[in-house]
Amino acid sequence: RIAAVDGTAEAGVHAFLHLDADGALAAAAAVDEKRAAGDDLGPLAGVPLALKDVIVTSDMPTTVGSKLLEGWQPPYDATVTRRLRDAGIVILGKTNLDEFAMGSSTENSAYGVTRNPWDLTRIPGGSGGGSAAALAAFEAPLAIGTDTGGSIRQPAAVTGTVGVKPTYGGVSRYGLVACASSLDQAGPCARTVLDAALLHTVIAGHDPLDSTSIDQPVPDVVAAARRGAEGDLTGLRVGVVKELGGEGYQAGVEARFNDAVALLSKLGAEVVEVSCPHFKYGLPAYYLILPSEVSSNLARFDAMRYGLRVGDDGTRSAEEVMSLTRGQGFGAEAKRRIMLGTYALSSGYYDAYYGQAQKVRTLIARDFEAAFAQVDVLVSPTTPTTAFPIGEKVDDPLAMYMNDLCTIPSNLAGNASASFPAGLADEDGLPVGLHVMAPVMADDRLYLVGAAVE
Ligand code: GLN
Repeated sequence: RIAAVDGTAEAGVHAFLHLDADGALAAAAAVDEKRAAGDDLGPLAGVPLALKDVIVTSDMPTTVGSKLLEGWQPPYDATVTRRLRDAGIVILGKTNLDEFAMGSSTENSAYGVTRNPWDLTRIPGGSGGGSAAALAAFEAPLAIGTDTGGSIRQPAAVTGTVGVKPTYGGVSRYGLVACASSLDQAGPCARTVLDAALLHTVIAGHDPLDSTSIDQPVPDVVAAARRGAEGDLTGLRVGVVKELGGEGYQAGVEARFNDAVALLSKLGAEVVEVSCPHFKYGLPAYYLILPSEVSSNLARFDAMRYGLRVGDDGTRSAEEVMSLTRGQGFGAEAKRRIMLGTYALSSGYYDAYYGQAQKVRTLIARDFEAAFAQVDVLVSPTTPTTAFPIGEKVDDPLAMYMNDLCTIPSNLAGNASASFPAGLADEDGLPVGLHVMAPVMADDRLYLVGAAVE
């Protein structure tokens, strides 16, 4: 299937940056052997998976979509990678993404765009467009994404797949190349809610190698998905976020969202409108906090430690080599955010920008707290529009950032969120996502709702 549809950066879906057919066959054979020996393997043993190329793998390169790390082979496996292997899951290869996971379309990848399998002239979302496209094109039944501001959920929405951002700290970040460390979260992507729940169970849980990892039992997301599939939501209180919807949202997105809300109510849920007055400040706060962390995290790409090194011919100083390497190695969006972040953190501006944004972050977390005192989950559309044409927003960063309007509050507050397929928009026949938000460590509620509407 991959050979038939994935193609190249010039044509085809181009979900994969690296394929490891031999490794995958060997992993599958090892599962067969263990099974023959009577080993009790989990339910996903032998199932193929596409891994976002931001998670390190000891037997495959990790580029994070950047020229800076072209050909870099990490010396170790991320905790997520290791847990996948331990569960007998077969890693097919690494999927495309916006450089250093910054973007909403995969157009910022240094290795060419991924195309949306629903319409190859359109974007598959980002930054994890490769993982979502691999699922939608039936190249893999499971994938892993990472979500800093929406990079699991927005691609899921625009490709008609399931994408879950677990509670921050629910899945280890050890071996995940950092974008913004206080926001990054790896999570499961799949075509069905139960598949996502089974994958969630494999990757989640405490990891002493990640100091922000939560040392608590993983919510029983599989039981929740099974319960949800029975279609009875009696007693569940659902809040529709007043501030996420209306003006600026595509008509077909609104229509499918309203259908989903009507379905929740038909299944017995009690639906009320809830106001989260600070959510509208989420986007500006995020685009100060994220670049600040990015400017610090990407400082490690100094031409000495990893990957690309430009102009090191014995005539130049270390500073000149560093500057040439970063100048040629980073794409435009990475540079934009490094500069924004450096500015926001500089003395004299720190309080006005970074400090202020952190206060907004607290207000958003309080909005969630107040809302979850009234309801069990919150819902909104995942994105304001369906998949847009490739090229439409590349020259307009602000228009690109608007994709993250609904997804960002959950990253700022650290709570669990997911996008589930909600049907197709009438005007363009493209997938729409239902966004569900749950309290910290109540990830099971996402699966309950997702499975009920599936
Ligand atoms: N679109 C968001 C951004 O560009 C999301 C990034 C992410 O979740 N990794 O920052």
